[in-house]
Amino acid sequence: MPVHVVCPGCGAVNRLPEERLAAEFQAARCPSCRSPLFPGKPIEVDGAGLARQIERSDLPLLVDFWAPWCGPCRMMAPSFAEAAARLEPVVRALKLDTEADQAAGARHGIRSIPTLALFVGGREVARQAGAMSTPQILQWVEGRLR
Ligand code: ZN
Ligand code: ZN
Repeated sequence: MPVHVVCPGCGAVNRLPEERLAAEFQAARCPSCRSPLFPGKPIEVDGAGLARQIERSDLPLLVDFWAPWCGPCRMMAPSFAEAAARLEPVVRALKLDTEADQAAGARHGIRSIPTLALFVGGREVARQAGAMSTPQILQWVEGRLR
């Protein structure tokens, strides 16, 4: 079964065989723009980029809704980055700056930041407000994907 992965660089939808995903994800590059498909860190998206991932990605998406002025958001950033690297290639970690794209925050009903939201199969399955450590993030995600 091919797994559809949306390129972090250009948004192209790539089809990866499941075996290749597990074994060679770190080497996988987008044929269109040569970006690594799994960069080992969170991918920054705006509302349109998030919508494309939600619509086309087969990978569960973990989204950090944050803003530059938010102290707890900045405090959580390194933990989220570490969790992003550890979750590859099973989960795609994204960051959405709700200050830069306020409409996207409103569309997703974000009331406080940071808020983590998990999307599976094109819909949101869980969300959690407040800063978390790396182990807490990993535990939260794993508990909801089971
Ligand atoms: Zn698919
Ligand atoms: Zn690309």
